[in-house]
Amino acid sequence: MPGWVDFGGLKRTVSLEAVLRHYRVPGLRRHRDQLQGRCPIHRGTRQDSFRVSLTKNVFHCFGCQAGGDVLVFVAAMEKCSIRQAALRLQQWFTTEPWVANSVLRTERKEELVRKEERDNPPLRFALTGVDHGHPYLVERGVDRVTAVAFGVGFYGRPGLMSGRIVIPIHNARSEIVAYAGRGLEGKLPKYKLPVGFRKDYELFNLHRASATGSRTVAVVEGYFDCLRVYQAQIPWVVALMGSSLSAQQEQALLAGFDRVVLLLDGDAVGRAASQTIADKLSRRCSVDVVQLPDNAQPDQLSSPVLQQLLNHR
Ligand SMILES: [Zn+2]
Repeated sequence: MPGWVDFGGLKRTVSLEAVLRHYRVPGLRRHRDQLQGRCPIHRGTRQDSFRVSLTKNVFHCFGCQAGGDVLVFVAAMEKCSIRQAALRLQQWFTTEPWVANSVLRTERKEELVRKEERDNPPLRFALTGVDHGHPYLVERGVDRVTAVAFGVGFYGRPGLMSGRIVIPIHNARSEIVAYAGRGLEGKLPKYKLPVGFRKDYELFNLHRASATGSRTVAVVEGYFDCLRVYQAQIPWVVALMGSSLSAQQEQALLAGFDRVVLLLDGDAVGRAASQTIADKLSRRCSVDVVQLPDNAQPDQLSSPVLQQLLNHR
């Protein structure tokens, strides 16, 4: 049905965030559920005149007074009618006209996300004023040199990560794609990650491990395991940020290394994961599984023990 447009469906399912990415609008900063930046419509100079509410999926500019939903935004950018804007959105974000069926629409929404977010986009800011000597790091056995090298520390300023230990996560190109925020004193969630960030697309510390030129890589579960192994003079270590290996992570390991040493936790979850991952990888590269004592985690082991476990593999 050429020319047929589901205006409501587009407004509900296409996020302004995805459209802003489509236009590659630079310099937007996130504050709670808002994005702020320079207005791409009137191309103003003020850094905060353009606001987007991610929950309401609407925008407003205090400079040119433009405002409305995703269709109004595209119409303003393209200087076209709402109907033409809708047709363009449909073209950009779907391959066929919308199907007026709620189940299909849900599926299509997931497809949209996949189509638009094959990569975690690099952050356009870096947190400053991070305390690399915070008592929590001392308690976890992370020394200042390691904390500085990783950019890890306590962040006390306002924002999403306020009051947490922040851990920058880089992509393979060494760009920061997210901060993980470790809650202190039982604060939940234990690890806070930005909305929309796909941790299964990254391996923590991959850029540093690759830069060592090592053909072997040690794989651990968590950020702190990774920090402690690195601190034991074993810089060729990456963390899964969990206990499963995604297809993207598998690809990254196979592309960068010939040999994988799995050093997952000594609990039931870690052991089952080791088995699954070893089975998966052993068809394509050399794999070694290190069995830790019951309930031990790499971040609780001393540097000499870690060296003993890993250096002769
Ligand atoms: Zn404006």
